[in-house]
Amino acid sequence: MNEYDSDRIRNALNLETTTHPEKADIVIINTCSIRQKADQKALSSIGKFKHLKARKPEMIIGIAGCVAQLYGDKLLDKIPHLDLVLGPRSIPRLPTIISQIEKEKRRCVETSLDVEEVFEIEPYHEEGKVTAFVSVQQGCNKKCTYCIVPYVRGNEINRPTTKILSEIGNLVIKGVKEVTLIGQTVNSWRDNGYKFSDLLRKVAELEGLERIRFTTSYPRDVTKRMIDSMRDTRKVCRHIHLPVQSGSNKILSLMKRTYTKEWYLDTVNKLRDSIPDIAISTDIIVGFPGETEEDFENTIKLLNEAEFNNIFSFKFSQRPGTPASEFCEKENVSETDANRRLSRLQELQREITFRKNQLNVGSTQEVLVEGEGRSNSNWIYGRNTYNQIVHFPGSAPLKGVVAKVKITEGLQNSLRGELLNKN
Ligand code: SAH
Repeated sequence: MNEYDSDRIRNALNLETTTHPEKADIVIINTCSIRQKADQKALSSIGKFKHLKARKPEMIIGIAGCVAQLYGDKLLDKIPHLDLVLGPRSIPRLPTIISQIEKEKRRCVETSLDVEEVFEIEPYHEEGKVTAFVSVQQGCNKKCTYCIVPYVRGNEINRPTTKILSEIGNLVIKGVKEVTLIGQTVNSWRDNGYKFSDLLRKVAELEGLERIRFTTSYPRDVTKRMIDSMRDTRKVCRHIHLPVQSGSNKILSLMKRTYTKEWYLDTVNKLRDSIPDIAISTDIIVGFPGETEEDFENTIKLLNEAEFNNIFSFKFSQRPGTPASEFCEKENVSETDANRRLSRLQELQREITFRKNQLNVGSTQEVLVEGEGRSNSNWIYGRNTYNQIVHFPGSAPLKGVVAKVKITEGLQNSLRGELLNKN
């Protein structure tokens, strides 16, 4: 989502870019506030521009995104060399705001969430890139107790079907073969009676587009219609990212995730019954306030039962204004316990992922070639339908081609293979 917004900021400014900050007239730092670490990183990276601004006072320095939204005008007090604070919904206003700052020589804070056309300004697309993100939804209505997103990105707004299709249509003309539809709870998307399952089918009708991915799905919004739509639509990749967060029903309830572990596993089974080879990844939070050893053991059990292909795991981070930040006062899990739980969880998942990756060896898979390998230009890479990276010997002209690759090796984070033919 942030990459997408950064590319929108780039298009909104419509300026030449530079990798030399000292040459820039405008520097905008786009930020994430999902965990405290991201938030701190953002603030410290703005600090790095202090000396540049001192040497070049006309340089405009701005902070955009969720950290901007969270702290608002307090940031101007805290950071004297900052000129602009821009919330995630104000990107379309950026050109107007920049000219205001230049003309009136004043600092500016723009953090209203009550903005009409939040989807205006499509992102910059790098020439030759064969994959792209497409935002279909902004904000979130779910209010999970740990999560800051609803407060900094506002309530859920769904983008109209016609706008989504026209953005993808333009990308296809530029050579894009694969789109990832993005939204905080992407499968709760709806538009005038159309549901997410209908959107998948509509997008799949676009000629020239080879593949559709989407992220992130909210478990309670995985419906039979959605599973049928995934199964029936060849272009929809065989992968779903379905954050579970915990394997303890007590913790799930404190998180207000609106499902139980049993309900979640039942949904996983329904997905696998319909699409037997589907890859499933998830997110887990450890150390949520009140999480006991027993609760954590239930998460370990869930990992063994569900056998995810991949997980993203995090230590609970207290976010200002969220209900869970108040739970901490009474039921804080110690840093030592949270670290130990995270390591154990990750160790277990490493084994599962490695074992699952090895099962691919010997199979023939379709890989959409994205580019050349970083360390060896005689190798190219892309992703299979399961969202795994596959490296194999080949050359750049294959970029954008869906190649048939025989998998020869399963590594921890990727696969290796050899090219069978071009199509
Ligand atoms: N709506 C998106 C949210 C993206 S945040 C989604 O459901 O995927 C990605 C992940 O960050 C979440 O799934 C959760 O596991 C984690 N996360 C969110 N808030 C957190 C917090 N306060 N502390 C630790 N991890 C958090």
